[in-house]
Amino acid sequence: MALLISPGGGRGDMIVSRLDEYRRRICRVLVAMASLCVVGLWVFETETQVITELDRIAYPLLLAAFVVSLFLMLALPRWHRMAEWIAYLSFTTYCLVGVAAFGHLAEQTRLYTIANTLQWMPMLYVASFILLQRRDAVIAAALVFLSMSIPIVVEFSASDSYLKDRVLGSLVINAYLVHLVILVSLSLFVMTSLAFEQARAKAKALETMASTDSLTGTMNRRGLEQILRHVAGGSSGEIGLILIDIDNFKPINDTYGHLAGDAVLQAVAKRLAGVVRDSDVVGRWGGDEFLIITRDAQLTDVIAMADRARQHVGTHVLAGMRVTLSAGVGVWDGQGPWADALQRIDRALYSAKAEGRNRTAEAATAPNPIPA
Ligand code: GH3
Ligand code: MG
Repeated sequence: MALLISPGGGRGDMIVSRLDEYRRRICRVLVAMASLCVVGLWVFETETQVITELDRIAYPLLLAAFVVSLFLMLALPRWHRMAEWIAYLSFTTYCLVGVAAFGHLAEQTRLYTIANTLQWMPMLYVASFILLQRRDAVIAAALVFLSMSIPIVVEFSASDSYLKDRVLGSLVINAYLVHLVILVSLSLFVMTSLAFEQARAKAKALETMASTDSLTGTMNRRGLEQILRHVAGGSSGEIGLILIDIDNFKPINDTYGHLAGDAVLQAVAKRLAGVVRDSDVVGRWGGDEFLIITRDAQLTDVIAMADRARQHVGTHVLAGMRVTLSAGVGVWDGQGPWADALQRIDRALYSAKAEGRNRTAEAATAPNPIPA
């Protein structure tokens, strides 16, 4: 069914779930890569003897957490979210413990281990933004940064700290500055894109409102004209046009009041939207007139749709009334002004009325252009 104008949550939900699937795929790739990196570092550092006592225990634990997380993601999609958290929290814990242990590292490998930990830490900020949504991601990444900073601040204030070493101290300050810049850049990017998305959604809502008939919720004349302009001279191919008018509508207003007339217009619009396909458009052309624009380019199909629409309305009691419809139909190849095409359909509608109403009349074919 196509009421067409109402934005409809269905499509929005579909986009959100597709985006979430992409996000999940990214998580799986990252955790797989992280597992390989841990294996690589473990082997490399063992071979070169730069591995710390802590990493001898931490690497296998971290690898186990990543493998479990990846297994859950692949084998039990229902637990995907939990698996993501397992990987994220394991890596956060590893980094936190690593930073806290900086002061206890062996002299010869201290520089390597500190540099190694500091250069992997920004992945935590990236992971926060993949795992969480916008503001939550900014907060999580900031919390990670702050918690990683605490051991360093404590260490700097200690008189016998390893950070009194000029090279090590400078390296750590430099790295934390880079982390801060990465964190702020990511946050600004995400918050700006959020504001941009909101502005775009608002503009779209305003655009939709401007093309919506407030009484029936279908497209209004402005929206319909926009579509006709788009079809004119374009490569959209032929389209079917059905102009529908409610028979003897004025007496309903006169007898039962304007509100009763409004209710009939709403009910008719709903019925018409129920007959067309999602790719077709139903709109209120004005007063008690509706226009259907359909992809059907065969006149017989367009006539059949018009008859179906008339039947769908005429055989039911709508808002306590029985009404019939008259329709003018035609096919338009997009050549020439749309107003001319509409005029031919309008004439057909006029004939349907003149022939006794409650019927469909076919428009005369467009005159061939006069040769110059
Ligand atoms: P016909 O079979 O020839 O179409 O007769 P009709 O009585 O339906 O005549 P017409 O189509 O010209 O009447 C349209 C009427 O629709 C006139 C106007 O009062 C009424 N109308 C237009 N807009 C609205 C509206 O928003 N609400 C209501 N209730 N009536 C409307
Ligand atoms: Mg009418």
